[in-house]
Amino acid sequence: MISEVLGSSRKIVIKVGSNTLAHPDGSMNRDFMKSFADQVHSLMEERKQIIIVSSGARIAGLSTIGKWQRKTDIHYKQALCAIGQVELMDSWRKAFATHGVHIAQLLLTREDFEDATRSLNIRNTLFTLIDEGVIPIINENDTTCVDEIRIGDNDNLAALTTLLWSADLLILLSDIDGLYDKNPKEHADASLLELITDIESLKRGLVSGSANSFGVGGIRTKLEAAAKVTGAGIPMILANGSRSMVLQGLVSGTVKATLFSPEKQV
Ligand code: ADP
Repeated sequence: MISEVLGSSRKIVIKVGSNTLAHPDGSMNRDFMKSFADQVHSLMEERKQIIIVSSGARIAGLSTIGKWQRKTDIHYKQALCAIGQVELMDSWRKAFATHGVHIAQLLLTREDFEDATRSLNIRNTLFTLIDEGVIPIINENDTTCVDEIRIGDNDNLAALTTLLWSADLLILLSDIDGLYDKNPKEHADASLLELITDIESLKRGLVSGSANSFGVGGIRTKLEAAAKVTGAGIPMILANGSRSMVLQGLVSGTVKATLFSPEKQV
């Protein structure tokens, strides 16, 4: 199923989570970034168009200015993201430069998606970049983001980008193989759900959450993202970014993941 969906998708948004981009000690996982860039480049050679949504600015900031580890003040947090964003993009630039591919940075807020003129400008910029073979890399603009205009997580940012660009597919790369019937980090007997067609009833299960139902953690925002895109007829894949050659594995069907399908199975 997943390999068919990937095979028929031309415009793909891929979101990479912080856990995938950083080692457990907080340093940037440059091996992952290099391998990911290799895989994205192979997809581009198959005439696929890719937009990346990249987390990791805060972690990159912390590994740059380690002595700010204990600063909890919001302005320090925003300053850390501003520092880290440069490091993050520098790492992405180097990873793609080996393939002669340019990258572009877009820092967005919720207001940008809500305002018709701004979202049209973003859309036109994305189309221009993609037409010229440049890879747009999107992150939330943490510097300007107070709570009122924050999207708050890159899963939802990636879903909004998918809708804005009218993509064919959204892929979220996290540190787990997909959606499980319960949090796999707490329950050894959790089993992977490979196909989801009814996200609304899953989300209701989350709200009433008991020890035996879905864990919450970062999975809630992934279900919100899935609801947004499948509601518009676009499939979403949740996969494990730490699996070697994950994108090619999804294409060939050798890597297991969860497909959120907009098509109700009968
Ligand atoms: P990322 O930073 O990659 O976006 P998060 O840490 O926000 O990822 O979310 C992924 C985490 O959600 C998993 O590592 C897992 O511990 C947790 N989780 C909770 N419930 C589930 C579930 N039912 N299935 C899969 N993961 C779950």
